[in-house]
Amino acid sequence: MLLRHTPSEIKERKALNVNPAKTCQPIGAMYAALGIHGCLPHSHGSQGCCAYHRSTLTRHYKEPVLAGTSSFTEGASVFGGQANLVQAIDNMFTVYNPEVIAVHTTCLSETIGDDIPQIARKAEADGKIPKGRFVIHASTPSYVGSHVTGFSSMTKSMVDYFARFSGKRTDTINIIPGYVEPSDMEEIKRLAAEMGVKNIMFPDTSNVMNSPQTGRFEMYPRGGVTVEALARTGDSSGTLALGKLASSAAARALDIKCKVPCEILDLPIGLNNTDLFIDALRKMAGVSVPESVNVDRGRLLDIITDMHQYFYGKKVGLVGDPDHLVALTEFLVSIDMWPVHIVTGTPGKAFEKRIREITREVPHEVNVGAPGDMFLFHQWVKNEPVDLLMGNTYLKYIARDEDIPLVRFGFPILDRVGHSYFPTVGYRGGMRLLEKILDALLDRKDRDDPEEGFELVM
Ligand code: SF4
Repeated sequence: MLLRHTPSEIKERKALNVNPAKTCQPIGAMYAALGIHGCLPHSHGSQGCCAYHRSTLTRHYKEPVLAGTSSFTEGASVFGGQANLVQAIDNMFTVYNPEVIAVHTTCLSETIGDDIPQIARKAEADGKIPKGRFVIHASTPSYVGSHVTGFSSMTKSMVDYFARFSGKRTDTINIIPGYVEPSDMEEIKRLAAEMGVKNIMFPDTSNVMNSPQTGRFEMYPRGGVTVEALARTGDSSGTLALGKLASSAAARALDIKCKVPCEILDLPIGLNNTDLFIDALRKMAGVSVPESVNVDRGRLLDIITDMHQYFYGKKVGLVGDPDHLVALTEFLVSIDMWPVHIVTGTPGKAFEKRIREITREVPHEVNVGAPGDMFLFHQWVKNEPVDLLMGNTYLKYIARDEDIPLVRFGFPILDRVGHSYFPTVGYRGGMRLLEKILDALLDRKDRDDPEEGFELVM
């Protein structure tokens, strides 16, 4: 339904979200779990939850997303889900032979209070977990947090269950990439490889959620971090965690558990944040930056210079996840665009403070909703129109109603294909993002210009 009845008058609302700017925790937990090689995610709850989580990921990535469910019915709701989960673990190892089953909870199993580690121990005692196979878990009640907190919890579980310090440090660097596309993970690994940095990325959904068409069905694609590599993260000499909300819990847990020092950075979106990432990697690994990376940087800088005249002073409305929004806002401000309405559905006080710092020199009032919803965002746009919207697919309704160009960015993107194959992180990703922004702005200009202003050359 289009939102043409959204009133511009803003009234205070309590205990009511309209068009939330987030999805639920297990979706993020499932996505993170898919970044372990040979892993079958498992949703401990009702079938409907699992169907929603799988279909959202499938629609975004255009890849089949397989996962088990404990298939709760009335019995499990009253007596708890232990019997269902033990049976499910047995079935999955017998039929699908995964290396890891990554269990996440749902609202219902959390409300019942099922103790997953205890149930996993019971399954092990009953001989349902084959030797050399693993059951890990993350607690993901969706009445708090969002898909990003679910991603964070499952990523931390990888540390809790697998990381070990063997007693010998290596020169490997752990990279926790944050809640980004598989193509972004690939680009971050490419940059690290270009710099000669040995690294373990976790989770790593590249070659899982963007795997090539080979004509053969592979239950477990070749990508994903292996259990053996996850164990070795405890021996690494440092961890770079990208995106505070999605990645810092795992990085800190690794520091506490195995004394691997960590540095937590914003996602490497845009020139400045990529510079910070490259510099942190350089210092942590004790390497120098090769000319090939400098060339990429120079190209991004050149494109910014060429495009700047079109960006200057353009007002933008943003909806998305905190880590994305922090990095994207910084990028937009750095090219003299003005983010004036910024909404995330993920709660967190630090987010607003950070956005206020980044936008302190924007010569315009900046609205920040954390948590906010798309209804409020729409009202802000009605009261203060913008030149561009950036965010997930759900923004298309507001874009159409208000006749504002939209650049799709973040999660989920359900109505376009290809986004998971092209990065938006790093210098190359920055170039792509700028091209998308400029195309949206100039396509609108071409549409609206009077004939005498309709130019062949911009
Ligand atoms: S919000 Fe809770 S009940 Fe709804 S799909 Fe997510 S986990 Fe299931």
